[in-house]
Amino acid sequence: MTFLNDLWASFQIFSGNFTDHYGLWVNGALLLLVLAAVGLFLWRSIRLGRRVRHTEAQLNLPEPSKKQNEEWCRKLSQAVSFPTVTGDKEAISQFRSWLKESFPLVFSRLRLLDCPGDGLLFQWRCPEKGKKGPVLLCAHMDVVPTEGQNWTHPPFEGEIKEETVYGRGALDCKGTLCGILQAVEELLQDGFAPGRDVYLAFGCDEETGGKEGAAQIAKQLKMRGLHFDLILDEGTPISTAHLGKENFPAALLGVAEKGQATFRLTARQKAGHAAMPPQHTAAGYLSEAICRIEAAPLHKRLLPVMQQCLLFSAPAMGSLQRAMVANLPFTRPLLFRGTRHNLQLSALFHSTFAATCLEGGSAPNVLPETASALLNARILQGDTGEKLLEYLRSLLDDLPVTIEMVSCQDPSAITDTAGAGYQLVKGAVEETFGRLPCIPTIMPAGTDTKHYQEFSDHIIRLIPLAVSDATLSAVHGPDEHLSCRSYTAGVIFYENLLKKL
Ligand SMILES: [Zn+2]
Repeated sequence: MTFLNDLWASFQIFSGNFTDHYGLWVNGALLLLVLAAVGLFLWRSIRLGRRVRHTEAQLNLPEPSKKQNEEWCRKLSQAVSFPTVTGDKEAISQFRSWLKESFPLVFSRLRLLDCPGDGLLFQWRCPEKGKKGPVLLCAHMDVVPTEGQNWTHPPFEGEIKEETVYGRGALDCKGTLCGILQAVEELLQDGFAPGRDVYLAFGCDEETGGKEGAAQIAKQLKMRGLHFDLILDEGTPISTAHLGKENFPAALLGVAEKGQATFRLTARQKAGHAAMPPQHTAAGYLSEAICRIEAAPLHKRLLPVMQQCLLFSAPAMGSLQRAMVANLPFTRPLLFRGTRHNLQLSALFHSTFAATCLEGGSAPNVLPETASALLNARILQGDTGEKLLEYLRSLLDDLPVTIEMVSCQDPSAITDTAGAGYQLVKGAVEETFGRLPCIPTIMPAGTDTKHYQEFSDHIIRLIPLAVSDATLSAVHGPDEHLSCRSYTAGVIFYENLLKKL
């Protein structure tokens, strides 16, 4: 209201400088301007409302046979029973042997290319030499640990209860991995051959960055001079209730992923006795630095792809939110303010920093000479690690704190939604799941595709599994699970995609 009062006061001063005659004209012109703005706002809102009414959103999971449902689902549950926590080479090796036994046609008919490390790279050749470029389907074998989590189902026994597989990796990422392998196995059994070369890449340490798996596979791809028409990796899911709206399912297609960097902040002060401390200690300066970074978040920006994402998501919104989205050129600041508590969405509007590991001090009565913190940054498209380093340096330039960039992966390119790769995936989604809106978005987290950037301009990150928010939130947490029905639909999605190539 203060803003409106100020506006009115300025308006009165402004119009008061004119004679009565001119004042009338000015008032009239301003009134017309306000009416035109309100009209434009309403027109844009109504136009989007009309479009939204014609959006079809119906999730139809394909019906597998009883045998398929049981057999495929049992295999997934067996896959989940291997505790392939990143770094456990023994578990990964046993899992690889189990894969070979469980998908015999894949291992005998496809060519397993030599890769150093524990990753797997298969080549499925198209029998005819065509002009179509190859396609790469990806997933990973490793999972995150379960220690310290309160599981009510055993995490590594592959328990099936009420047609749902429980266990670490059910969704991330063995549902995808087995989904690909099962689809290829089925197609091979039917005597199918792909219309272009297909490569399958399965990393073994995606959860810790992919240096042993995807990075080694990438070297093989480079050596062979490969360039793909499509790379499809894990990513955002088929949401059964987009933005919590039950009657609005949607396929979220990750067309980009944020980059990430780690910075080390180190504060230095003289060591000494804690009984005679200076006004500011190393720990104090470090805390000041972290507080300053948290108090000055980077400016939010609306990338065109996020604008597209919001527009396509409009049917799942209330009328007020929809009006805001319809008028984004004018309502951007309101949108940023209104979504600031939605951490997942808010993270897609800017690069972020989070202090994670802190160190300093060795005894309660000794002043530490150094105190340090690791700062994890997630980099939005348009920023780079170097830019963020510069920003931190300017923000903390008056503090005795040094900043060093420990690691950096700049953000990915953004896949064109009008491109053939995106359209291919969209087609397979629609064929499998019904008339489902496909909504492009940015992945806030990373995938193995960071190692495959140079091999394609068409990279999509999608878990083709229909899941609720509750199922999704169990990823990396306790009681991770996946329903058999959702899994079998995922297998059929991969079959449909492969048939379209
Ligand atoms: Zn994953």
